[in-house]
Amino acid sequence: MKYNKVYDIQHPPIKECPYCGCKELYFTEQYRGVSVINIDLDDDVIKPDFSEMYNDAEIVRRSKYTYCAGCKKRLFRIE
Ligand SMILES: [Zn+2]
Repeated sequence: MKYNKVYDIQHPPIKECPYCGCKELYFTEQYRGVSVINIDLDDDVIKPDFSEMYNDAEIVRRSKYTYCAGCKKRLFRIE
């Protein structure tokens, strides 16, 4: 796996982490914006509705690399 190669996240070059065998990975995004959180007062238990939270958010930064969810090692670069 070459670190300088950029992969499509839809087509990851690995099936598992080469370091620990974990089958989960992650990358991070940072948002900027104002969120509307709906609350229904008729519900017995108040449950804020976060489903529209990111609708108006602007992505300001995204990591260029994926990381293993198990051992946190850097895996491969994404677009
Ligand atoms: Zn790992």
